[in-house]
Amino acid sequence: MKNINQIYINGAFVTPHGTETFDLINPSNNQKIGTVTLGDEEDTRMAIAAAKEAFKSFAKTTREERISYLQKLQAAVSKREAELIDVMVLEYGGTFQFCKASTQHAIHAFSSMIETLREFDFEKRVGHSKVRLESLGVAGIITPWNASNSFICNKLATAIAAGCTVVIKPSEMSALQTQLIAECFHEAGLPDGVWNIVNGLGVVVGAEMTGHPDIAKISFTGSTAVGKTIAKGAVDTMKRVTLELGGKSPNVILDDADLNTVIPMAVLGAYMNSGQACIAPTRLLVPEDKLEEVNAIAKAAAESVKVGNPQDKDTHVGPLVSKKQYERVQSYIRLGQEEGATLLVGGEGQPNGLEAGNFVKATIFTNVNNEMRIAREEIFGPVLSIIPYKSEEDAIAIANDTTYGLAAYISSSDTLRANRVAAQISAGRININGFSHDPQAPFGGFKQSGIGREFGAYGLEAYLEPKAVLE
Ligand code: NAD
Repeated sequence: MKNINQIYINGAFVTPHGTETFDLINPSNNQKIGTVTLGDEEDTRMAIAAAKEAFKSFAKTTREERISYLQKLQAAVSKREAELIDVMVLEYGGTFQFCKASTQHAIHAFSSMIETLREFDFEKRVGHSKVRLESLGVAGIITPWNASNSFICNKLATAIAAGCTVVIKPSEMSALQTQLIAECFHEAGLPDGVWNIVNGLGVVVGAEMTGHPDIAKISFTGSTAVGKTIAKGAVDTMKRVTLELGGKSPNVILDDADLNTVIPMAVLGAYMNSGQACIAPTRLLVPEDKLEEVNAIAKAAAESVKVGNPQDKDTHVGPLVSKKQYERVQSYIRLGQEEGATLLVGGEGQPNGLEAGNFVKATIFTNVNNEMRIAREEIFGPVLSIIPYKSEEDAIAIANDTTYGLAAYISSSDTLRANRVAAQISAGRININGFSHDPQAPFGGFKQSGIGREFGAYGLEAYLEPKAVLE
């Protein structure tokens, strides 16, 4: 049992003013593993004041100083990689495979931002003016539970590169992971007040950050509903916002793709991070005349997926983060059947022997129509919808018929054709023939998947304000 009863303000772990506590539950067995004391509005204001004070000198740091801070952060986080993975598996229930990759993303966020910073021009000539990109100010960072430390490290690295100071509010469900990353950041020895962390509820700490006049920007990753609340609240003080929100990403299998290769990959892709991934390809679009063949391959692929103990190195799908998420996903599995989709594999209830935790069966619906709610709403669990299409044109129309636009995936044996299709799909990130990651390429959504971009130079610009000096 671990009790997290401190937050981090102005270079020190301190006891919060808030006294309410929140239970931390192991999603694999629903046993209590700790508590976190939640910060309140006053804690938030103190953290913002510390960040505001630190900004005065931090904004004046040189590129070399910022690189040195990023190197120290990376070294401190790397040193505790194994512990960071273990605590993520325990508290979040992410599979070992996923938690390892996610922790490596967290570590590489710093080196990747160093690479961007070395090349970045903070001063340019435009017309007859000098344009300087200046640090925005204090950034508020609000993150979800599904890859908590990776989001925190990426956003912190970008803010540091830009000369901004930060107040971080992670999900209250990630407090054990937050404690460990805070210890790493502390060891890196940055100036007091440059980074601050307040554990707490979104409606308390997050809302205070959103409304506070001394925060210049909010970088938020989470649900579209909360993203809209933040955007509305932020406008009163004209804060800049970067919003990384939900998705319902299409995976378009063109008729020349090798089904035996791409369908098993598509199934595993939909189940990435136990299905709790904003970029998961949850709508599998396949040629109508190949539906039967696709169903057979997809069913076999889902049946070979290991759902179970997230500590096992070969587990693909672990428990969902909470009982609430489990119930939510169950309700979508019921809904899919009520809407008339064909349940191909999986279904309601827990897999045998896994009744103690929030485990969901690897589930696939086929004969799904894009009008059904299971095809339109983010389920955030291991549930894939197979949607047949009639022609390439029809596939593109279905792919775009969504309020989201975070990611899309295309498989074809002809990459020129896949690129032609990619040009017609509205999504911020499109993967052709696979699932790769590029930490330098912009990441973010079209439509209701968000506003702005993260990573690389696009991400860095979002923490800067252009000032034109006309000479
Ligand atoms: P959430 O939106 O419920 O919460 C995210 C964070 O916002 C948490 O820290 C929460 O405490 C805080 N929050 C809640 N209400 C708030 C308010 N009124 N004001 C300010 N902050 C508030 O999301 P979640 O359930 O933690 O995460 C799952 C969601 O995140 C999914 O919709 C998923 O698609 C999305 N997500 C998006 C990306 C991306 O990069 N686009 C990545 C991961 C997850």
